[in-house]
Amino acid sequence: MFILLRDADVHAPEPLGRTDVLVAHGRVVAIAPAIGELPAACACETIDLGGRRLVPGLIDAHVHVTGGGGEAGPETRVPPLAPGTIAQAGVTTVVGVLGTDGTSRSVAELVATVLGLRAEGLSAWCWTGNYEVPVHTLTGSIRGDLAWVDPIIGVGELALSDHRSSQPTLDELLRVAADVHTGGMIAGKAGVLHLHMGDGRRGLDLVRRAIEGSELPASMFHPTHVNRNAGLLREAQALAKEHGCTIDVTAFPAQDLGEGIAAGDAIAACLQAGVPIERITCSSDGGGCMPTFDADGRLVAMGVGDPSTLLVALQRLLGFGLATASALAPFSTNVARLLRLPRKGRICVGGDADLVGLEDDGTPWCVIARGQPWVMGGVPTRRGTFES
Ligand SMILES: [Zn+2]
Repeated sequence: MFILLRDADVHAPEPLGRTDVLVAHGRVVAIAPAIGELPAACACETIDLGGRRLVPGLIDAHVHVTGGGGEAGPETRVPPLAPGTIAQAGVTTVVGVLGTDGTSRSVAELVATVLGLRAEGLSAWCWTGNYEVPVHTLTGSIRGDLAWVDPIIGVGELALSDHRSSQPTLDELLRVAADVHTGGMIAGKAGVLHLHMGDGRRGLDLVRRAIEGSELPASMFHPTHVNRNAGLLREAQALAKEHGCTIDVTAFPAQDLGEGIAAGDAIAACLQAGVPIERITCSSDGGGCMPTFDADGRLVAMGVGDPSTLLVALQRLLGFGLATASALAPFSTNVARLLRLPRKGRICVGGDADLVGLEDDGTPWCVIARGQPWVMGGVPTRRGTFES
């Protein structure tokens, strides 16, 4: 299967200008101006982008692919995210995650869902565990999960500073981090500890103490939801600047923002504060519930995260005048580098053909995942097995 994309304004994410991109068997095999016609024997679909921007498929490192929630009874368990919903948001790679509920949901279900997404044509990995300590695993240990389970690349989302967390001590956090770090080394994987940050007043204190009080590399700690309030965002900026952590901003839906700072604004604020762009990633919390609790911990409102918020955040960053390559980095190259995902996050010869063509208003005109079109001309062309 060949696809020839003509006249694309390629941002790889660095700008390559208006050029053609040839895709074969799921990979990019040529990037050049005016690629000639292929021999008739090669079945080739030609798509004219008409000068539209072509960017790497987005990598979303925090997606509740099984559905999250369940925090106000069984009827609040969120249904699984359909592959088409993910692809139509311009997201071609997800890292699945369990959340609060590791009782009615399991790592086995998460891994099965990830393998299903791969079979449907997307790219998918996952974090083992959920909010809890001890960490729930598939093989009986964190190291075993990393070593023996292909899609598992680290532990997450382990919850800190949140009334729903296991209230781990520093020693408990360090033991988990050590297993993630060493397990990652054994497996040849990233070995990242992805931390759900709640809005508790202890903020990032435990993470800072773990970094300063151990030999573990700061780069393995990846706190998320750091833009859920202004104080936490300031702490995260300091952690990124002083210790070199990569911090993850959540693209909360506008209606569920509460005290949070919108992702585009939060990333701009980080850059303003001197955080290098390389140390920022952005994820959607898609499929996760966005609960609002009152002072007594009672749930008073419930929203659901959606991967389409990533493109909204990207458009907001571009609106601030940020160069396209920099604006794209938190959604592409930075995530691929941190999570050691080869062939992801860039448009390059030999890389996976994960490509998104964008309209001027930031909506996806075409989405191609591992060489297969999911959206063409702004219209969905492919769906998951159970999508009508
Ligand atoms: Zn979370």
